[in-house]
Amino acid sequence: MISTQLLRGQKALVTGANSGIGKATAIGLGRAGADVVVNYVTGRDEAEKVVEEITSFGVRAAAYEADVSDEGQVVAMTQRMVEEFGTIDILVANAGLQRDAAVTEMTLAQWQKVLDVNLTGQFLCAREATKEFLRRGVVPEVSRAAGKIICMSSVHQIIPWAGHVNYASSKGGVRMMMETLAQELAPKKIRVNAIAPGAIKTPINRSAWETPDAERDLLRLIPYNRVGTPEDIAHAAVALASDVMDYVVGTTLYVDGGMTLFPGFATGG
Ligand code: NAD
Repeated sequence: MISTQLLRGQKALVTGANSGIGKATAIGLGRAGADVVVNYVTGRDEAEKVVEEITSFGVRAAAYEADVSDEGQVVAMTQRMVEEFGTIDILVANAGLQRDAAVTEMTLAQWQKVLDVNLTGQFLCAREATKEFLRRGVVPEVSRAAGKIICMSSVHQIIPWAGHVNYASSKGGVRMMMETLAQELAPKKIRVNAIAPGAIKTPINRSAWETPDAERDLLRLIPYNRVGTPEDIAHAAVALASDVMDYVVGTTLYVDGGMTLFPGFATGG
């Protein structure tokens, strides 16, 4: 992990933080000195374990249950964080899911669920965090920005993904939402950016890496020749959220081992 205390004194909210990338990011932010709210929708025990690990670094943490696609629950979660932690400095809008199907098999419910969580969920969390950033304004001893939002996107914000039209559409939407909010909020000293992970070993894509054959197929798409880890994304999130990146606004950081350089990459000469 980069400098241990890059985020000292800051308060971070990470959605979907009891699994995979969100879990590693919440832990990474805590290790970097931030107090962290670990949001979860199911799996309270796992969320509490993440809280325990974060508090072992000497910072505060708490697990808050909320469905990010539910407006009332997002409003209540952010209000509770302001009451209990004092404010919000960093939002990592990470919660996401897949409901895969060929287009002719995809139900409206599958389409809608993915859009609701992956896109509307990020919008709701960004909106509520922004209200708090604007209320508080810049506190120079804490950060040069009034707030930082990191949207968890995907390489599929630019690479089409057959069989996953709901997911790819949601991430394409995240990209334009992020860039528009970045433009709208930069004058208020709020930095909005995204991370676009490539293939990261988490439960969401287990079938893509859990057998040696599947992993070999996956590595054909990754010039750097290894599957990513949740910690790869956590490192990027800590850096993006910190003042080290204060002039980075409206950018997508691809953390993908070069996957977005495909095609034009061939292992076999
Ligand atoms: P994961 O399944 O391990 O984690 C997803 C988290 O989101 C879980 O904690 C889940 O409970 C939570 N979640 C789902 N619906 C929610 C809701 N309505 N409210 C609150 N939380 C909810 O998968 P992951 O790989 O860690 O995914 C995290 C993010 O990274 C997602 O946005 C995903 O699209 C993105 N991503 C992952 C990969 C990858 O290769 N793993 C690649 C690109 C992008």
